[in-house]
Amino acid sequence: MLHEARYWEPADGGRVLCTLCPRACRIGEGQAGFCFIRRNQGGRLVTAGYGRSTGFAVDPIEKKPLAHYLPGSTVLSFGTAGCCLGCRFCQNWDISKARDDERSSDDRFTPERVVALALELGAPGVAFTYNDPIIWAEYAIDVAKAAHAAGLFTVFVTSGYVEPAARTDIFRHMDATNVDLKAFTEDFYARVTLAHLAPVLATLEWLAKETDVWVEVTNLMIPGLNDAPDETRRLADWIAEHMGVDVPLHFTAFHPDYKMLDKPRTPAGTLSGARAIARAAGLRHVYTGNVHDPEGQTTFCPRCGARVVERDWHAVRAVRLSGDACVACGERIAGRFAEGPTAPTSGVRVPLGIPRV
Ligand code: SF4
Repeated sequence: MLHEARYWEPADGGRVLCTLCPRACRIGEGQAGFCFIRRNQGGRLVTAGYGRSTGFAVDPIEKKPLAHYLPGSTVLSFGTAGCCLGCRFCQNWDISKARDDERSSDDRFTPERVVALALELGAPGVAFTYNDPIIWAEYAIDVAKAAHAAGLFTVFVTSGYVEPAARTDIFRHMDATNVDLKAFTEDFYARVTLAHLAPVLATLEWLAKETDVWVEVTNLMIPGLNDAPDETRRLADWIAEHMGVDVPLHFTAFHPDYKMLDKPRTPAGTLSGARAIARAAGLRHVYTGNVHDPEGQTTFCPRCGARVVERDWHAVRAVRLSGDACVACGERIAGRFAEGPTAPTSGVRVPLGIPRV
């Protein structure tokens, strides 16, 4: 089940230096890195995440969340075990904090098998998600190559905590991404995620300026920790200046989980207030998530204000676009749009090992 890893170099004393994410783990013989799934075996780095999924689901693409990439599409979504961050509030901690042997299927899902599953289930794309796919980059890249060969699109849902050399390799094979910008202070990143803000900002700016990958950003708002209006204003200003005003920004609601059970759920008013701040900062497409808020989940034409994609939660209710143009005024909307949406679904959990592919 172990697969030869890329992104490492030999270090002193038989250790290996993992160069995949900025954590730069120095891993001793027989030991694993912070993410659990990258290990030193005989002085070489191997990954236990290759081909080992913790579960598949056909999700609406709005759940990633992506609002400007083929609205109404479905996408075969899956993850593995482990994570390179240590978020105390992790909303998927049962897999992100699991060792691979605790949560992964014994079944081996080769890239070809994942693609066959997507085709069998009628999903036009594949999403690497649930835990951070950076730590299983080798597997994600190989699945993405197979997906593109079969005419499927690829989506990478990530913290953006990745070294420059690896990110070039990874995003060369991705069509769209949602990057979780967890806060806009180094203090939050250091204390609450056990990571750092600067590498995430570097990834975001690089994606927007140096690649053709469609990029959206998510900020999960935790009451009292990262929801101050001034922090939201600085975050939105930074996106406008360093990524552009057409980059969609999603403010999503937190629920108490993992090691953060002492904070309340995010009030809907916090999200709509943040949305107003970001729009005032010049961002054209700002959304709310994990709450019932049709207004905050609808895409508006930035020129005439028409509701070009109406949503409620993850469901697309109406589309008033011709290609990427507003049918009311002809303004082109940033993103990738088909001629018409496919029917949205509520998502289907696919039990491991059941599909015959
Ligand atoms: S990918 Fe994993 S092993 Fe490599 S540096 Fe990051 S946390 Fe450490």
